[in-house]
Amino acid sequence: MSLPNPKVRCPTCGKVGDWFAGPFGPFCSRRCKLIDLGKWLGEEHVISEPLRPEHLEELSGVPRSNAEPRAGDDGAARPS
Ligand SMILES: [Zn+2]
Repeated sequence: MSLPNPKVRCPTCGKVGDWFAGPFGPFCSRRCKLIDLGKWLGEEHVISEPLRPEHLEELSGVPRSNAEPRAGDDGAARPS
């Protein structure tokens, strides 16, 4: 005779259910698990990373290097 999974309280949101039966351990959902993980690692880095000036410079540099004219391509070697 086996008992059903015991009801536990989600550490993040406090919802009660048999969360141990799910893939997220004692948490009721993936979101609650990530939120709790974020508390350990530092919420700012986990939830969202703000856009930094370095990223914009990287993006603006791509089309410029692409538009550079090729050296030696002046048509001098074309057949007559
Ligand atoms: Zn929860």
